[in-house]
Amino acid sequence: MKIIKYESFKEGEDMSNWIGVDIGGTKILGALFDDKGNKIKTEKKSSKSSKGKEKVIDQLKKVLDTLLEDSKDVKGIGIGVPGVIKDGKIAFTPNMPLNEFNLIDFVKEEYKIDCFVENDANASMYGEWKFGAAKGAKNAVGYFVGTGIGGGLILNNSLYRGSYNFAAEIGHMNVYPQGPLCGCNLRGCLESLSSKVAIQREITRKRERGEKTVIKKSDLKNIVKSSTLKSAYDEGDKVVRSILNDVAFYLGINAGSIINLLNPDVILYGGGIMEALGEELLPIIIETAKQYSIPHIFDTCEFKLSKLKDDACLYGAFSLIQEKVGA
Ligand SMILES: [Zn+2]
Repeated sequence: MKIIKYESFKEGEDMSNWIGVDIGGTKILGALFDDKGNKIKTEKKSSKSSKGKEKVIDQLKKVLDTLLEDSKDVKGIGIGVPGVIKDGKIAFTPNMPLNEFNLIDFVKEEYKIDCFVENDANASMYGEWKFGAAKGAKNAVGYFVGTGIGGGLILNNSLYRGSYNFAAEIGHMNVYPQGPLCGCNLRGCLESLSSKVAIQREITRKRERGEKTVIKKSDLKNIVKSSTLKSAYDEGDKVVRSILNDVAFYLGINAGSIINLLNPDVILYGGGIMEALGEELLPIIIETAKQYSIPHIFDTCEFKLSKLKDDACLYGAFSLIQEKVGA
């Protein structure tokens, strides 16, 4: 646990605290914020999602309890979850045992504190827009490239959720109709070509064909680490370089269409793959997007890498609950 010095606090000043939480498939991250968005304290626990719903909730409680220990007057808890959220309830989450769980009711009953729940990619985009690389943009699109690909949209200065909260599934836009089967059962989605699952599948396929790579079988036992891919890329590994080139190409194709559709001022890239390999992949993405979009519209768009990185969802969740309650 890391305690960050709380510099803005002065004795007697009327300040309240807020909590932002990022519930992920492997870890639960939480942070205590002050009114101005200064991070006071952070806490991290494994989410233990393979052990069932009760265990995940237990881990969440441990994170919240630790953050609440040193807090004063916590006015709200904002939470980002990888799934579809309807009225605070997790309607669908493919990678966690929390389907149909009403997280808002749980927090309100357990802690008597107001709560807001948002899709994690939406929350991350919101965080980047309020505090990070998309700050000041009127229209911005975020790609979060990790195990899957999440998307977030800021349109006309607000978070766009669609008519039924299902919008911004950028990972399931088609970029190659004859492409591989995606986790959603469609063929050729962006996620089936540019996510870590796609990279893992391609490395495995190439290894089986006898192509030489520094990625070992043991690296592929669980999902391959972004840092492992980065060192293979830096060593000039041909298999990894060619796969990552394709990853960036399909991201660029999609960005071209998005540019034509939305005319965003900012397109932002976050998530594990972009944090590790953003500098290498971004030029290929930009070059491809340029080829697949209308020049006049392309010229108005800036491409950026995430500034808040792993903290984007925390900042977004904090902002969303603070705006709901009113600071
Ligand atoms: Zn899909």
